[in-house]
Amino acid sequence: MKYLTSLKNKDLSKEICLLRVDFNITNAELSGMMRRTTWKLHPRLAAVLPTIKFLIKRGAKVIILSHRGRPEIKQKEFSLKLFAKILSKLLNKPVQFIDFNFGTSDVLKLTSIKNSPSSSVFLLENLRFLPGEDKNDKKFAKQLASLATFYINDAFSISHRKNASIVAITKFLPSYVGLSLENEIKNLSRIMKNPKRPLVIILGGAKISDKIGVIKNFLERADYFLIGGGVANTFLAAQGLPIGDSLYEKEMIPTAKKLSKSPKIILPIDSMVKKGKILDIGPKTAKKYAEIIKNAKTIIWNGPMGYIEDKRFIKGTEAITKAIMKSRAFSVIGGGETTAAFQAAARNYADKYTELRRKYPHLFLSTGGGAMLEYLAGKKLSGIVALQRNIKKL
Ligand code: ADP
Ligand code: MG
Repeated sequence: MKYLTSLKNKDLSKEICLLRVDFNITNAELSGMMRRTTWKLHPRLAAVLPTIKFLIKRGAKVIILSHRGRPEIKQKEFSLKLFAKILSKLLNKPVQFIDFNFGTSDVLKLTSIKNSPSSSVFLLENLRFLPGEDKNDKKFAKQLASLATFYINDAFSISHRKNASIVAITKFLPSYVGLSLENEIKNLSRIMKNPKRPLVIILGGAKISDKIGVIKNFLERADYFLIGGGVANTFLAAQGLPIGDSLYEKEMIPTAKKLSKSPKIILPIDSMVKKGKILDIGPKTAKKYAEIIKNAKTIIWNGPMGYIEDKRFIKGTEAITKAIMKSRAFSVIGGGETTAAFQAAARNYADKYTELRRKYPHLFLSTGGGAMLEYLAGKKLSGIVALQRNIKKL
């Protein structure tokens, strides 16, 4: 694999870079960011700024590519237009938004990119507005490739998907690993290779089926699985305990039954219940989990302990956050909801993403949810395999 860092001393002023990022940020998350109630800067925006700055500094023109949401057709609510404004502010330079359809009317737009001064930045409209992206279409990838002289993947969180701008594109251009993707691979492979023990894996969130791969892959190597959220409900149901109307996955009960024979799987001993639903782990469980986390040398966390959208049920998730902040174990935390909840709860300690990372270097907040789970389940991510196969050099 070729890393962007290897181009550190290269003059890129004759180059045009297609930079794939993940701006799949919902409108609700965006407005949270604007109001500064969640993040000052969404982690997915924060993650790609170093790569953009790296490229601008060396004179490359940058064409930023992303998807957003799951639009069927061109739907305004999924447009990336606003992101050009946000980026322009963050980079302190103009970012030109381009709605590209690869039709004859786009010739002018193409010329404007080619004739722009070095270090110009462009943002293309949502790739999913075009049918080729999701289909990993070669022809579409070739059209994209015709805009630039090299390609960078800096979108770990979508690298498990066979999309044209992730996989097929690497057939046509010299392809590099961006700074954020490099960081993800470095931290996650560290956990995969030789984790210091005790290794504690905390799993919550909605569905056990999302997390099963990680449990299986780490059953030998991990020391404890601390289970919460809807995942715990399925385990409890598998043991024949009454869970009322709680969120769980019926079809996963046989799997949960088998797994819960392992003494490493730790289930809640009390819970917060409302209207017949288990919505958070209880205080005794939180205390027990914190004790185990205290002795950990390595921690992986995905999935909140409860229904965190309701403030009454965030205590379990907050307790886990606190325990991780107190520990000095190398900790990888991933998943959209999990990282958001973590940051909100960690605010008492440090309120900015970058500040958090500076003060607590043992923490790694992954931008990946599904991608991180697949990586930790030992699966090969299509986007990373594609980068490994690309041998063209700039
Ligand atoms: P992430 O986005 O971090 O990967 P998930 O998507 O797996 O996490 O799970 C997050 C969701 O799980 C949240 O919307 C939360 O409300 C839900 N959840 C967790 N525990 C419960 C519970 N006990 N009952 C209902 N929903 C829950
Ligand atoms: Mg989620």
